[in-house]
Amino acid sequence: MRTGASSFRLILGVLLTTLVGLTALSANVAAQRSDAVARDARVGGDLKRTRFVADLSATVDFRAFLLADPYRVIIDLPKVQFQMPPGIGETGRGLINAFRYGLFAQGKSRIVIDTVGPVAIEKAFVRPSENGQPARLVIDLVSASEQEFQEQWRRQAALRAIQPQTNLTGPGGEGASGRDGDSGKPTIVLDPGHGGPDPGTVTRNGVYEKNVVFSFCQVLKAELEANGRFRVLMTRSEDIFVPLQERVEFARQSEADLMISVHADALDIKHPLVTRKMLNDVRGASVYTLSEEASDARAKLAAARENNSDVLAGIELPASADGSLESILIDLMHRETKNLSIAFAKKLLKELGSKTPLLKSPHRFADFRVLKAEDVPSVLVELGYLSNEKDETALTSKEWRLNVAKAMAKSIRSFFEQRHVSVPG
Ligand SMILES: [Zn+2]
Repeated sequence: MRTGASSFRLILGVLLTTLVGLTALSANVAAQRSDAVARDARVGGDLKRTRFVADLSATVDFRAFLLADPYRVIIDLPKVQFQMPPGIGETGRGLINAFRYGLFAQGKSRIVIDTVGPVAIEKAFVRPSENGQPARLVIDLVSASEQEFQEQWRRQAALRAIQPQTNLTGPGGEGASGRDGDSGKPTIVLDPGHGGPDPGTVTRNGVYEKNVVFSFCQVLKAELEANGRFRVLMTRSEDIFVPLQERVEFARQSEADLMISVHADALDIKHPLVTRKMLNDVRGASVYTLSEEASDARAKLAAARENNSDVLAGIELPASADGSLESILIDLMHRETKNLSIAFAKKLLKELGSKTPLLKSPHRFADFRVLKAEDVPSVLVELGYLSNEKDETALTSKEWRLNVAKAMAKSIRSFFEQRHVSVPG
């Protein structure tokens, strides 16, 4: 079927009309060049109409749009300093289930709102500061049918296609352009999980997984660099979102010899089947290697949770993201990479076990997207359970961090020593 020139002009006309319409939505109030500060946010209303308000130190340009699967409202902003009360956004009201926020890419911040179902953005504007009140970003959502949602979503998607704003930059870490002056040294890529609008697990005490794992990776990096034997890179060097696929690409382009993705586990404290006793009992570190078949139900759950990172940050996944192509990639993965990953996981567990409790059967297998660099031996470490009080105290303590980082560095040195010895000639 061909699209005639006249229908093309019609489509273009519709797009331009939509452009004018939506530009009115995204308030183009004079943009402040220094970062605005967001200090608080509120949700009010009911299941028919809900208002989201964020207090800002200055007016900003922004763009608000819808995403499906699951239903979300995304607000893209220039870089904003979020100084929100801890735990804010964990629960919502009316049409809003929860919201998250953070640095999404260099110079770009994002707020992600989870909604209870299909909604439409009725109004979106920034009210300038007046009478001593802060500037306010206001998003009015109304309940919508699936069809109404789809219509608004389609209009916005078309608009985004001709007016791209969120061109993702590479990972927030150091440059990944192959080997540099450090040639000859093994390259280790450390991958602190989550970041920006994806906080990972958030505990009742307001501890964020993204911060726990970032601090840990910083200490481990320093530990590895101390003796000058390794080139160490991180997939992010600040609190910024990095898509899972870009983390994998970063490891490959850096020609990494080992990739360690660092996370912290948690039981879902809101789940009706999770008891106080389970929260007290389930603790300890575990190490995952890639496998299409999960070693057990909990491993499968862990992979599902960590793989959800892109969704939490408001990325639209391509339709084929979990299709057969990925299975083929796993099949093609060099057997050697797989064996090396497993060998390292074992060494790592041996050293970790001397410094921190381990989960029962701590070497687990699951289908983690971040472990799919087919030529880079990769493991994912869950440092412990943030849902367990003892683990939470340990994971946030300086002393524990240093001890466990030292143990991990020891296992890495031993891994490369053995690899070196095993090379013939
Ligand atoms: Zn995680």
